[in-house]
Amino acid sequence: MVLLNDLKAIWKEKNSDILAALHSVGESGWWILGKSVSQFEESLASIVGAKYAVGCANGMDAIEIGLRALGIQTGDKVLTTPLSAFATTLAILRIGAVPVFVDTDSRGGIDLDKCEGLLAADVQIKALVPVHLYGLALNLAQLKKIKEKFKIKIVEDCAQSILAERDGLLSGAVGDLAATSFYPTKNLGAMGDGGAIWTQDASLQEKCRALRDYGQTEKYKHSVLGLNSRLDEVHAAVLNKAFLPELRRWTLRRRQIADAYLEGIKNENIRLLTGELNHSVWHLFPLFVLAKRDGLMGFLNAQGVQSAIHYPELIPAQKAMENVHYERGGDLENAQLVCEQELSIPIHPYLTDEEVKKVIKAINSWNP
Ligand SMILES: *Cc1c(COP(=O)(O)O)cnc(C)c1O
Repeated sequence: MVLLNDLKAIWKEKNSDILAALHSVGESGWWILGKSVSQFEESLASIVGAKYAVGCANGMDAIEIGLRALGIQTGDKVLTTPLSAFATTLAILRIGAVPVFVDTDSRGGIDLDKCEGLLAADVQIKALVPVHLYGLALNLAQLKKIKEKFKIKIVEDCAQSILAERDGLLSGAVGDLAATSFYPTKNLGAMGDGGAIWTQDASLQEKCRALRDYGQTEKYKHSVLGLNSRLDEVHAAVLNKAFLPELRRWTLRRRQIADAYLEGIKNENIRLLTGELNHSVWHLFPLFVLAKRDGLMGFLNAQGVQSAIHYPELIPAQKAMENVHYERGGDLENAQLVCEQELSIPIHPYLTDEEVKKVIKAINSWNP
């Protein structure tokens, strides 16, 4: 089977570095918020071009902490996309804020033109949480313009886009803060849950540090009501010593595979991403299936190729949203179409050239 993700392959290649990292934490005798976390925060800040990075427990908390550091509160409206991991919206809802869903473009990224229209029409919108979906950076020059024009607070959801770059800017460079996830299957994943926030702003950084640790500014001094959302020393050490040093190579391999797919996949029933793609980090490789998607999924499975849908349902259509206060900023037609057509095929860095060929061959031979 050609797998969507292959964590065993990572273990196989990296286990001695992982065990050495674990060993170093054990020997240090300091297992929460010690040197490994601060060293990882420094390395992370450096590769994403930020002054500060703050580790936390997961990507969802990273978004919540970012919004709370910006002062977003109960009842504040927050513009976001209906097409993402549910966690993006859940972070907004946990604060008691009101998500305002904006349609995406045909590539699945939040429609920044529509964001501008909504921001001009509704002064109650306090913040924007855009998602660089599939690893494809949004138009960062436009995002920057929106930030300046509307003085809107932004937390960029970079859970899928670490190192993605556009217009000479890295994803996460425009927002007041960026949030990311180290869920194991992300481009930079931990051996468990983890997340981080990064920013250029010293005072926001301090707020995030307090918020992740019960709102403490010093031991037993609580200035705000915070979370328990610390990144573990063990995860930080593994990230810093075993996985982060591979991120550039892994990203290059994802790009190579994407190039092979873009070049090799030819099936009139399938649309590929179009437009500027150079700066995607290819967290996922989406196909847009114009004929029966279930048919393709079953066919690929029979050919030994895994696939998955990102995402089968829009966030506001989820059952959990039935009695929740949210708004729709216009129709969500493009996002709905992506939900109906999208199918992700394997693109992890340990795929072999043979596997990539097998995937292309299977897709090209599908006849609905
Ligand atoms: C994975 C993901 C999250 C949530 O991250 P967790 O670490 O699972 O909480 C948020 N947003 C996006 C776009 C994601 O892909």
